[in-house]
Amino acid sequence: MAAEFDIVIAGAGAAGLSLAYHLTRNSRRNWRIALVDRAPKQRNDRTWCFWEVGQGLFEAVVFRQWDRVAFYSPTLQRQLCIAPYRYKMIRGADFYAYVEAHLAAQPNVTRCYGEIVAVEEEGDAGVVHLRSGEVIRGKWVFNSVLFAPPCRAEDARYHCLLQHFLGWVVEADQPVFDPTVATLMDFRIPQAGETRFVYVLPFDAHTALVEFTVFSGSLLPREVYAQGLTDYLGEQLGLQSYRVREEEYGVIPMTDAPLKQRLSQRVIQIGTAGGDTKASTGYTFQRIQRRTHAIACALEAGRSPHLSRSLWQRRHGLFDSVLLNVLDKRRQPGWRVFTDLFANNPPVRVLRFLDEDTSLLEDLRVMASVHLPTFLSATLDVLARKGAGALNFGENTSPADRGRVT
Ligand SMILES: Cc1cc2nc3c(=O)[nH]c(=O)nc-3n(C[C@H](O)[C@H](O)[C@H](O)COP(=O)(O)OP(=O)(O)OC[C@H]3O[C@@H](n4cnc5c(N)ncnc54)[C@H](O)[C@@H]3O)c2cc1C
Repeated sequence: MAAEFDIVIAGAGAAGLSLAYHLTRNSRRNWRIALVDRAPKQRNDRTWCFWEVGQGLFEAVVFRQWDRVAFYSPTLQRQLCIAPYRYKMIRGADFYAYVEAHLAAQPNVTRCYGEIVAVEEEGDAGVVHLRSGEVIRGKWVFNSVLFAPPCRAEDARYHCLLQHFLGWVVEADQPVFDPTVATLMDFRIPQAGETRFVYVLPFDAHTALVEFTVFSGSLLPREVYAQGLTDYLGEQLGLQSYRVREEEYGVIPMTDAPLKQRLSQRVIQIGTAGGDTKASTGYTFQRIQRRTHAIACALEAGRSPHLSRSLWQRRHGLFDSVLLNVLDKRRQPGWRVFTDLFANNPPVRVLRFLDEDTSLLEDLRVMASVHLPTFLSATLDVLARKGAGALNFGENTSPADRGRVT
């Protein structure tokens, strides 16, 4: 006998918890909600950074925030004021605890634990199957479990890069960090034919999260990241004596392969599995907030939670593909592309562009700030690879069944 709910959320990570939070804040609907995951979250498994204007919904758990960021490359060393934005950091453990405390006080939310093996539609319901044989049915199922890699490198239509990184929370004896500035990208490290940079998020003068980050097609042996961090701390920051307090390893897909949001009429994909990761940067957290909020508003208003974007809004999918093409085909070194962007635009325009919040005039200005012949060749290559599918950027129409473990 299947458990029955109005809404089943498969995967209680950033997207699943955010959706549950949006659905239970100020709702008049009192939906019966099931939230399914392998196990309760017990670790600080990731750190989310993003930019926003003013106070956000999760302000209570913002761990640090900065109104200045730094960008360093072999030809540009600049500190940038990003007002009215602030660059914010939320620790995974704080976010989980905050949302879990809110949900624990909602009698209409049921927690279920177990390994999800399939999510599919049956009749007029969505169904989540657990390895234990348990079946959970909902009028709507929102799935954030990524059952298969989002793309295969051999598919020539798409770019399949990965953003992979190792971060250390470093505690130094000397006061080497400036707690008022977050370093977004420091490209002054050997590139090894890839796009490599270091990201520094200072907590105070002695402590920072320092991440060695690579955009490339394949992962590196773990010791390469560790060596990159050791070299940066020693050579760039002159640090000989420090302790590593925490470690964070992550892989984020950077792909324009379509991750469909609509798995079927009753099953909707959210989070990274639903294409909420920005293909050209890996930033996801704010995009998850925007979409899960919009889904909750649609359901509250009695509308369909299948959201679609206009062709105009989807143009950013094309921009992402072009940037991925430049990086993937090594048409220009990544550090050069990002240097052009930050050297030739006010930082706020770059952040708005990455947020997909720019006007046509701003888009044109951003395009004029990079090396045009390179980006033109990349655009032609993208259009040639995708053909008619070029107009479907961001609309997530993959025929592949990603709703089942194979
Ligand atoms: C280390 C790290 C750092 C990141 N930093 C940033 C950042 O600074 N800024 C940013 O915008 N983005 C960042 N991202 C990218 C993105 O924001 C996160 O990956 C985010 O957690 C994605 O949310 P999600 O809900 O799609 O996936 P997740 O948060 O991974 O949630 C998926 C959930 O599904 C559960 N699950 C998976 N498989 C099964 C199964 N078979 N059965 C049951 N449960 C299952 C998992 O336990 C998990 O709780 C980072 C990612 C990583 C990995």
